[in-house]
Amino acid sequence: MSKPLVDQHGRVVRDLRISVTPRCNYACFYCDPLGDGAPDPIGTISVEDVDVILTAAVELGIESVRFTGGEPLLRKELPEMVHLAKRVHGIEDVALTTNASLLARRLDDLIEAGLDRINVSLDAADAEAFREATGGGTIQQVWDGIHAAEAAGMTPIKINAVVVRNINDEQLVPLAELTRDRDWHVRFIEYMHLNNADPDAYEKHFVSGKESRARIEAAVGALTPVETDPSAPARLFRAEGFAGALGFIDPVSNPFCGACSRMRVTSDAKLRPCLLTDREYSMREALNAEDPLPAVIDAFLVAAHRKVASGITTPVERDRTMVAIGG
Ligand code: SAM
Repeated sequence: MSKPLVDQHGRVVRDLRISVTPRCNYACFYCDPLGDGAPDPIGTISVEDVDVILTAAVELGIESVRFTGGEPLLRKELPEMVHLAKRVHGIEDVALTTNASLLARRLDDLIEAGLDRINVSLDAADAEAFREATGGGTIQQVWDGIHAAEAAGMTPIKINAVVVRNINDEQLVPLAELTRDRDWHVRFIEYMHLNNADPDAYEKHFVSGKESRARIEAAVGALTPVETDPSAPARLFRAEGFAGALGFIDPVSNPFCGACSRMRVTSDAKLRPCLLTDREYSMREALNAEDPLPAVIDAFLVAAHRKVASGITTPVERDRTMVAIGG
């Protein structure tokens, strides 16, 4: 029988994000991964670690697991991890956050392993703007991945774009236009200070969800709210006559900490109760113990108890950047 993981503010932790690598094949302005050519550092979580973590998570009532990174598709053992989550441990909802550049060729294995859903990060709809935003990415590979996922029935396709002034804010309308004829969800995320940017530069680059919405409405007309799960971070809208939905995720201007049900495992095996707070609890010793399960369960309980009421959204020096936290 599972016992729920409740933090000291009464929030139940139901969703676990597991970062499987600190490496990425893109170099987005707001993130700070190790390059694709770098090896995974010693201590990066193994398939065996993930197995124990998932066993503990199920014991503690976790219902959904999202694999992330870095770029999770760079991890060759990803299908094994998905298989463990879905088929061995019976997690209800197993998802992936990916830049989709390698998705077309890996999707079949992931679906066979039990993957339920994907979120694709796409910061521009135009090929050249995309190349600049990602430090050299080829958008066609992403379209191929998205179309493969759509053909496989992984709908609605959810696309996330982080909006950064003077980097990709001119792509707000082209990205919104993707939902005119397709029933995709395109969600705009406020840029969080997770890359230790100079505070003044950060302020200059930050675009509020309110501004993004106003700029889209100026081009496509008024957006009407769509009924949304209140615990979901995105507020959804639809433009008149559009097939898909537009979402706004505003962790900085409109934080949703009160409804947070998440906890993260970083790629170096630390439990991070809050994305926006540098408080982490290493599970390495517990994972290496002779009988790791009780020790890992204890680590979860301690971390949940220390989950803060709300994260720090102002620009402060972070112990570490998005490199291994996992978005
Ligand atoms: N490589 C995968 C991807 O591109 O989706 C997964 C990892 S990435 C770190 C996960 C998500 O975090 C992406 O949607 C990314 O845009 C977002 N992200 C990274 N740094 C961010 C920041 N400083 N502010 C807001 N979102 C950020």
